[in-house]
Amino acid sequence: MKRACLANGAEFITAIRHVLESGQFILAGRVEEFERAFAGYCGVPHGIGVASGTDALRLALLACGVGTGHAVITVANTCVPTISAICAVGARPVFVDVDPDTYTLDPALLESRITADVRAIMPVHLYGQCAEMDPILEIARRHGLRVIEDCAHAHGARYRGRMAGTMGDAGCYSFYPTKNLGAFGDAGMVVTNSAEIAQQIRRLRHQGQAQCDVHATAACHSRLDEVQAAVLLVKLPYLDGWNARRREIAGRYSEAFADGDLRCPRETPGRDHAYHLYVVRARDRAKFQTRLTERGIATLVHYPVPMHRQGGYARSVQDDTHLPVTEMLASEVVSLPLYPELDDDEIETVIDGASGTG
Ligand SMILES: *Cc1c(COP(=O)(O)O)cnc(C)c1O
Repeated sequence: MKRACLANGAEFITAIRHVLESGQFILAGRVEEFERAFAGYCGVPHGIGVASGTDALRLALLACGVGTGHAVITVANTCVPTISAICAVGARPVFVDVDPDTYTLDPALLESRITADVRAIMPVHLYGQCAEMDPILEIARRHGLRVIEDCAHAHGARYRGRMAGTMGDAGCYSFYPTKNLGAFGDAGMVVTNSAEIAQQIRRLRHQGQAQCDVHATAACHSRLDEVQAAVLLVKLPYLDGWNARRREIAGRYSEAFADGDLRCPRETPGRDHAYHLYVVRARDRAKFQTRLTERGIATLVHYPVPMHRQGGYARSVQDDTHLPVTEMLASEVVSLPLYPELDDDEIETVIDGASGTG
């Protein structure tokens, strides 16, 4: 487990220079090496590098046979890519509310949303904590539905010992620069236990190519490039150390805020939280954010407008969708600074700024 912060960039420069010298920039040695390394890290046999996390979700849906006229059950307290991927394959998102403690898909509400056109469930491992997967997988099995995990927040998160992305049919990762494992641009990967899904995605990401010059299916291209793979190969050995530091900082925040008015993240036994984000709930969020801003502490809101209220996707959503927990969260959640490079003084500044308000 490496711990350095890679601050001087020397390892990156070397890795990128090797790509330049190889003269190969798309789907060559570094991509294959990173696919093996990341799939190995997750503990599954297949990893398929693609252009972004959104494309990972989109191609996983296609490989699972989800398309026009179908529906996918997911949550509305997520980032737009979850939904845009569903819409991009011609399917419709069906929203289910989330658990009030973990903010992830509430399995107790899942079955009532299953209709004849539902083909898949897409749980989001929100903020770095896995959704309650066992009941989700059990319901999916009973109804013959596919499970595609949105792991964009969850590099290194586990559920009862199993790595995020390895429990359903496919796990979809984003390596967008701000994620726990981030590239120097867009990048994504699908991990899967299924050789069939892996082969489908390999074809889909490369113009439907089955073998050289033979294009068996009409597709698109969505490829991970060598420079991003080289950068990610440098970073991967640091991921567990960075996540440990994230958990340490989160632990200090939660201890400091335990007696105040803020509602801290709840960690559920059996789920190892990767703390992509440290999200509290403040009853008067505007006041809380202003107070922190005045002290020079940046806060963000993930996410202020739930997806069933997003105009751009409104046409695909039923008007009657009522998601009380999701809507409450949208009005109260605030993300505090949390990244491995935070030093002790900065952590104290955040604690002082955030304590005793809410
Ligand atoms: C970042 C993110 C994605 C994928 O994003 P890309 O920018 O396409 O890599 C998907 N889902 C969630 C919840 C995300 O936060």
